[in-house]
Amino acid sequence: GGTLYIVATPIGNLDDLSPRAARVLASVDVVAAEDTRHSGRLLQHLGIQKRLIALHDHNEKDRAESLIALLEGGQDVALISDAGTPLISDPGFVLVRIARERGCRVTPVPGPCALVAALSAAGLPTDRFLFSGFLPAKRAGRRAALEGLGRESATLVFYESPHRILDAVADMEAVLGETRELVLGRELTKTFETFYAGTIAEVREALEADPHGSRGEFVVMVRGFESTGREDDSSQLDVDRLLQLLLPELP
Ligand code: SAM
Repeated sequence: GGTLYIVATPIGNLDDLSPRAARVLASVDVVAAEDTRHSGRLLQHLGIQKRLIALHDHNEKDRAESLIALLEGGQDVALISDAGTPLISDPGFVLVRIARERGCRVTPVPGPCALVAALSAAGLPTDRFLFSGFLPAKRAGRRAALEGLGRESATLVFYESPHRILDAVADMEAVLGETRELVLGRELTKTFETFYAGTIAEVREALEADPHGSRGEFVVMVRGFESTGREDDSSQLDVDRLLQLLLPELP
């Protein structure tokens, strides 16, 4: 059978595509892509012409089956997403899962990944981190998710879109407290790459003051919970915060 290559592509700077990624994309029979128009442009930039098949969250099961048929027929397939590493807050899980179940060879071609790039330069502890993808889009769900992570001691990492970044940081301030350390990595590897770092309150103020603050894509990194050792105080604090959060929701 053929091989399924999971190929990382740039998160902004095209020079970050590895020579091996380019070689694999040039050599496979089929490229499965989240957005065939977007990926068509990348392949064109590389001077590669390929059969492109769309694979996104809505059709992944069906498309996975037809891609597996190609693999079983001996064709090589590369999976790419719009940016960075497939399966990391991107489609591909169903395909990789089924491919492995059917005994197909699956192999990674590693490269850019926004969360790893952001963590590597943020200055927060990286020995233990918890990547939690995108927070819920609505305030109540987002606050509940943050509440559930409030006592996590590992560094927390999220993805966030430009139109929700201010709301998300405001909710972090309300739920995690204004003094917790926060680092935002914005537009990584691109012309307007920016890091914002400080307490949650300081970062919120900096974002609000920056006219371009909420433009672009963000990786959000929060320092993990550090216990004071005063168990009574901290549990009291939690009850207060919980009340604060629940009161506006009560009839
Ligand atoms: N698979 C990708 C990866 O490996 O990082 C992530 C895909 S996810 C759909 C897109 C999110 O990743 C964006 O909303 C943003 O949070 C983050 N992201 C992607 N590129 C970025 C960049 N250049 N700078 C900052 N964040 C980025």
